[in-house]
Amino acid sequence: MTDIGRVYRHVVSEEPSAGVHLACMVMDEPSTPSTTQRAVMAAARLQALFDRYPDLERVAVFVGETAIGVALRADYPATTPEPPSPTPSDGRVGQGDRAVLPGRSQRYEAFRYTCPRCSRAVYTTADQAPLCPHCQVPTS
Ligand SMILES: [Zn+2]
Repeated sequence: MTDIGRVYRHVVSEEPSAGVHLACMVMDEPSTPSTTQRAVMAAARLQALFDRYPDLERVAVFVGETAIGVALRADYPATTPEPPSPTPSDGRVGQGDRAVLPGRSQRYEAFRYTCPRCSRAVYTTADQAPLCPHCQVPTS
């Protein structure tokens, strides 16, 4: 297993080779050196992806240009919406409490692009279209 594969081993369920025909998820290598943080960020991005695209079942995951494996929907069950907080009658008490709740990680938004050469769907949480990891051509 490569070093990068070790970092993300809990993020994916299947070997990279299992994903050759699948839609792809492309993410940048996080800049933090912490392997735990890198894995947590990758998992959060995949969660955002599966939440946004309910029909997506399996996706090949790439960090930079490296295939790290295949993520399965079963490992990313839909996140339940937060229950509405009780609204105090005066509208002031309790505001801002949510910011300190544990486990609320940074939120990501997933986008879908299509490779013009192989027609794969290529997903990312970055704010610009990624290269297709198989064809190395820009998606749109
Ligand atoms: Zn392609």
